Amino acid sequence: MYDKSKALYKEAVEVMPGGVNSPARAFKSVGDHPLFIDHAKGSKLYDVDGNEYIDYSLSFGPLILGHANDKVVQAVQEAAAKGTSFGAPTELETKMAELVIERVPSIEMVRMVSSGTEATLAALRLARGYTGREKILKFEGCYHGHSDSLLIKAGSGVATLGLPDSPGVPEGTAKNTITVPYNDQESLKEAFEKFGDDIAAVIMEPVAGNMGVVPPLDGYLQFVRDITEENGTLLIFDEVMTGFRVGYNCAQGYFGITPDLTCLGKVIGGGLPVGAYGGRKDIMENIAPSGDIYQAGTLSGNPLAMSAGLETLKQLSPESYEDFNALADELEKGLKEVFAKHDKPITVNRAGSMIGFFLTEGPVVDFDSANTSDLELFRNMYQALLNEGVYLPPSQFEGMFLSTAHTKEDIETTIRAFDSALSKVSGK
Ligand code: PMP
Repeated sequence: MYDKSKALYKEAVEVMPGGVNSPARAFKSVGDHPLFIDHAKGSKLYDVDGNEYIDYSLSFGPLILGHANDKVVQAVQEAAAKGTSFGAPTELETKMAELVIERVPSIEMVRMVSSGTEATLAALRLARGYTGREKILKFEGCYHGHSDSLLIKAGSGVATLGLPDSPGVPEGTAKNTITVPYNDQESLKEAFEKFGDDIAAVIMEPVAGNMGVVPPLDGYLQFVRDITEENGTLLIFDEVMTGFRVGYNCAQGYFGITPDLTCLGKVIGGGLPVGAYGGRKDIMENIAPSGDIYQAGTLSGNPLAMSAGLETLKQLSPESYEDFNALADELEKGLKEVFAKHDKPITVNRAGSMIGFFLTEGPVVDFDSANTSDLELFRNMYQALLNEGVYLPPSQFEGMFLSTAHTKEDIETTIRAFDSALSKVSGK
């Protein structure tokens, strides 16, 4: 059933570390080898062995319109025919900036980059340069890309592989990163009492999506906003995953909390390599060439990426998010019913079309409680679900996503697949 994938993996591991270009793809915690993909369309993914799957990974989030959306493909083709990169400004970049500013409440000025990692590392440099302070604070289990100061107690692939602190991060850098548990007001207060005057920025996922999905508890984001403001610390929302995913105006619009800086990625690239950071004008104007904090990129604002992103954002409306919610409600209800039928615990966490389930009684509110999930059951169920034609993100610590291409029928098929997968793994 997976012969071609197996053979391609064998070839790949000889020439790439772990056979992949990004660790979370390697299926380390859910199987012996990843699936190699041939093509995809809408909500469906097709591997090289000809198997079809309903895809809930969507390339770890970006493909909010589903795969190979006709208009996005056309926009990219048209852009490519005009030239793939100029190293000079294009009108597309201004159009993208204007659209981002219009939709994201806190952004008055924006800089495009080529990945989420670049966006967060540049936002931190800006925060340090702007405040003249060195320390930053992040939350355990949140992932903000792989730059040195952010690879401390990180989520995503780092959590999947159980590598809380990566070798290669200099001690001098690590000591400037303070970590506290997510959703815990007391720990944050203590950190500010101890280091308040030295903290340049708090960086957070407004809905954590890299320890599985963990939404903020009521009042938590407001608490973080207040304490950062009181201490002259910038609040950076890393909305690389939540941006245009959780709501039409991103997570900050959804929760009504305004950060100083925002990082974006995934959805704004429509499946092409993109990141962005933006925020208040008085802060953003410190970036070169209008200011002296340096950050640059040969392919930043690339016309293919801008075209895919613009076309993606244009197709989203406030109603798209209502549709997502209705589908996500069905999925949540179905999952809970199926797990109850099989007498297995499940905790479903959600923010719009970001959906996470944990195989535990819950509640799951931080990295420690996320780790109470039954990882062995997840692995077994993952394989059984593949056999049933359902492709989840390949780790307990990643969220599931919906696209505008997913249908009610997809959800019903998925719930039946869970039922059948659970019967198989529990031998009933
Ligand atoms: N921040 C968050 C919240 C993310 O989820 C990710 C990627 N999963 C990143 C940053 C890093 O983005 P990229 O992989 O594009 O570098």
